[in-house]
Amino acid sequence: MTSTIVADAARGGARDFDPPIADLARRVDGPVLTPGDPGAAAEVATFNLAVTHEPVVTVGATGPADVAAAVTWAVANGLPVAVQATGHGPVRAVRDAVLVTTSRMDHVHIDPVRRRARVGAGVRWAQVNEAAARHGLAGVSGSSSSVGVVGYSLGGGLGPLSREYGFGADQVLAVELVTADGRVRRVDEHTEPELFWAIRGGKGNFGVVTEIEIGLVPVATIYAGAVFFAGGSARDVLHSFRTWAPTLPDRTSTSVALLNLPPAPELPEALRGQHVVMLRFAHHGGDVEGAELLAPMLEAGEVLLSGVGALPYTQSDAIHQDPTEPAPVWEKGALLRELSAEAVDALLAVAGPGRHPALAMVELRLMGGAIGRSPRVPNAVAGREGAYSLLALGVLAPGIEEAVPVACDAVVAALRPWATGTALLNWLGASASAAEVAAAWRPDVHHRLLAMKRSLDPRNVFRLGHALEA
Ligand SMILES: Cc1cc2nc3c(=O)[nH]c(=O)nc-3n(C[C@H](O)[C@H](O)[C@H](O)COP(=O)(O)OP(=O)(O)OC[C@H]3O[C@@H](n4cnc5c(N)ncnc54)[C@H](O)[C@@H]3O)c2cc1C
Repeated sequence: MTSTIVADAARGGARDFDPPIADLARRVDGPVLTPGDPGAAAEVATFNLAVTHEPVVTVGATGPADVAAAVTWAVANGLPVAVQATGHGPVRAVRDAVLVTTSRMDHVHIDPVRRRARVGAGVRWAQVNEAAARHGLAGVSGSSSSVGVVGYSLGGGLGPLSREYGFGADQVLAVELVTADGRVRRVDEHTEPELFWAIRGGKGNFGVVTEIEIGLVPVATIYAGAVFFAGGSARDVLHSFRTWAPTLPDRTSTSVALLNLPPAPELPEALRGQHVVMLRFAHHGGDVEGAELLAPMLEAGEVLLSGVGALPYTQSDAIHQDPTEPAPVWEKGALLRELSAEAVDALLAVAGPGRHPALAMVELRLMGGAIGRSPRVPNAVAGREGAYSLLALGVLAPGIEEAVPVACDAVVAALRPWATGTALLNWLGASASAAEVAAAWRPDVHHRLLAMKRSLDPRNVFRLGHALEA
């Protein structure tokens, strides 16, 4: 291997570096790949094509021993460690670092009696929900079942069942991880309780998780789906949403999105190339009750397409209909304290149909319910205090690469008077600055996290996700 110039922040300055890759390869069972090796590009590929990882070496870990060897080797060679499961949430391009990929750790064990799942770090939500559904159970997953259980849950995790059951992090019962000292630890509420508090919300800052144990909830079927309104109804729909959403019980979740859809042939004709408003709805409590709760919104504007009904939870991707193919995206999130009439007007002025062609989606998710309550075992999740989450997103298509970040920033800026100042870590986006990451948590939570970080990872080995210390 040719000599590499590595910027080693831990030791200060750039230096000539020729890491002993063969030594690493001898210590792990999984593949050890350097740039240009067959399979290396596929191993590091992300779902957000705007971010390309170029690690010094990638370790396809098969278990905790591989991860421990990779971390120990990285520390010995002065390199930081990054981790990737599905590539759905890259924070920044990984360079001059060791990347541990977890997709080979894909075991799923369901305990139907205790309503728990123990899953490997590479498992996606679809695998858990399929296995849990055989017992009438489900995980508190998000809008896309392609997302990884670990990354989602450590970053908070807000999904269609969250108003009833809380954040994904609130369901985490135990975590097995490899810390910067190379130790494999199993932490839960009794063993290393401070680390257990920190990792549920502190995401990848404390180590590489190899296995996670989560609680499952007794949900088999929901009344759920989406309603598409004509863009011309945006004002009426958003103002109706503003007064209707807060009246919903905790067993109901909803969100609304302003969408600028491409003229793609796979879209229904009524939606192709249109500005539309998409209302998402999920109720756990019976079809009749669900239909009654939704009914007022069906009168709110011109309905182009409606698909709401009884849905096995395993098909919950139909609620948000998130993209299933990778694309280069840029996103920016914020949390709102309230959604006043003035806030809706401000949103429409900046993101209403035709306002900013670079915006692909601007969504508002209703929070509250169990999301707003501290779980039985408190954790470090950021953003619990939000009433609504706001997310602006654009595709960095040729010609609008520069306009997308400007448009997303403009949306967040327009809603700033109603913002909490905190944020959901999972939606900070790849663009978040160190100051924005720090501000995601309340200051007291951030200080407590920093104290844990400094004692457990004094050399800041894990600094490539939403880093507590840049
Ligand atoms: C289409 C789509 C839909 C989404 N929907 C939701 C949603 O409804 N609700 C929600 O809350 N979020 C949602 N997200 C955001 C998602 O939860 C985060 O991006 C999450 O970090 C993705 O985790 P991953 O492992 O799949 O992705 P990766 O890109 O593989 O990992 C992202 C980060 O997670 C951390 N991480 C992953 N594995 C480990 C590990 N083993 N140990 C330590 N840290 C680890 C690291 O910080 C890593 O950088 C969505 C994202 C996409 C692309």
